[in-house]
Amino acid sequence: MTTNTPVASLRVTAPEAQEAYDTQALQQLDSAHYLHPFTDHAALRERGARVIVRADDVYLWDSDGKKIIDGMAGLWCVNAGYGRASIADAVHAQLLQLPFYNSFFNTTNVPAVKLAALLAQIAPPQCQHVFFTGSGSEANDTIVRMVRRYWQLAGKPGRDVIISRRNAYHGSTLAGASLGGMAGMHAQGGLPIPGIVHIGQPNYAEEGRGMSEAEFGLHAAGWLEEKILEVGPDRVAAFIGEPVQGAGGVIIPPATYWPEIQRICDKYDILLVSDEVICGFGRLGTWFGCQLMGFEPDLIAFAKGVTSGYVPLGGVLVGSRVAHTLIDKGGDFNHGFTYSGHPAACAAALENIRILQAERLVERVALETGPHLKARFASLTAHPLVGHAETCGLAAGLNLVRRKGQTAHDCEAFPSTQAVGMLCRKHMFDNGVIMRAVGDRMIVAPPLSISVAQIDEMVDRIGYCLDLTLEEVA
Ligand code: PLP
Repeated sequence: MTTNTPVASLRVTAPEAQEAYDTQALQQLDSAHYLHPFTDHAALRERGARVIVRADDVYLWDSDGKKIIDGMAGLWCVNAGYGRASIADAVHAQLLQLPFYNSFFNTTNVPAVKLAALLAQIAPPQCQHVFFTGSGSEANDTIVRMVRRYWQLAGKPGRDVIISRRNAYHGSTLAGASLGGMAGMHAQGGLPIPGIVHIGQPNYAEEGRGMSEAEFGLHAAGWLEEKILEVGPDRVAAFIGEPVQGAGGVIIPPATYWPEIQRICDKYDILLVSDEVICGFGRLGTWFGCQLMGFEPDLIAFAKGVTSGYVPLGGVLVGSRVAHTLIDKGGDFNHGFTYSGHPAACAAALENIRILQAERLVERVALETGPHLKARFASLTAHPLVGHAETCGLAAGLNLVRRKGQTAHDCEAFPSTQAVGMLCRKHMFDNGVIMRAVGDRMIVAPPLSISVAQIDEMVDRIGYCLDLTLEEVA
């Protein structure tokens, strides 16, 4: 059964009135000078980059006037939605008042102090301190250094191994990419760095055949205990994971997984680190993903949603165990960034968090928009191309399959050479919706400000593009 949505209502044809751009000239300049992240530049030269010129609410416009619903909130970050003049005003006022001063050497600034105090209020109660960075990758680099420093101060410098998971994404710096478990990243540049090892991801659809979800959750958490015993419990410093793996394809662990991970970390006295760069600031319907998944991390990495991406900011929320050791026994922590606690970035974050609170956007994800997205994604599983679909808050994924099965484990995948996910992604963009392809898993994570009607519009467009994809691959 296909979606049968009238095609005309979904086509994006009429360019909205706007400033004229010379797309081709911009693409030529781009190709001549701009090296992009995660991009095949030879292919980009052939195709030309899409030029995004403006945004409002949950919509983007490209240089040809096409209006696109942003199913990915930029890059999982524009939680409050686009066009928030009050964030721009807050940054503007701060730039005039104090555009920059550093936080090194016994100095601070007002927005950074206020933001630290606000974060202490909304974070899980064990996290009452924050270290600011400029990005999520820097947050994870900070975590590697902080964890190792903690164990030095605790008199156990031999505890220097950090366990992470395959297919995790923790950033692109040397330490972030090493913590991450992306094979393609490790293959370029001799990663991981020493002292970082990986276990499997809790991906029920791929690895849970023959088990209930609950059984698989315990089984997958058991890989942590096996790795600890293999490395030696007195060598292991920390375990790091995303509550829900984002860039890996919105991999939602069974409910049994994280409580068992917590139990294992407690048993071996290992620090538990939650990378909340995507899940933090409401994506899953709680302020932090660990609150939904039922665990209490010692350290939390955040970025993206803290400012809704309006300006860069990241950081580490530090639990009492680590904070008190660093403060009481540590002396200088020889680590920091020029832009740690940047006043304008902190001003943006303060206004962004005010918006999330005032508009109850996190609660809306839990009670209204998240359940609606779940119901609409469930209805997409009737489509002949969709093997299975999962959502958690406002993060969702569905698998494109050649043949559907009774369960996620019985579906037949397309050969990877057919690149069906990329084909589908192109149809999505051409028809006014951004959806990301991770292999043949199609994912969305729209702004938290999206309305129920806009979710309907987004899912209708997705259904229409699934039809177009089906026509091509059938
Ligand atoms: N951690 C997670 C879970 C992420 O998804 C990302 C980015 O997508 C990062 C870390 C890296 O953040 P940044 O790109 O701000 O360095």
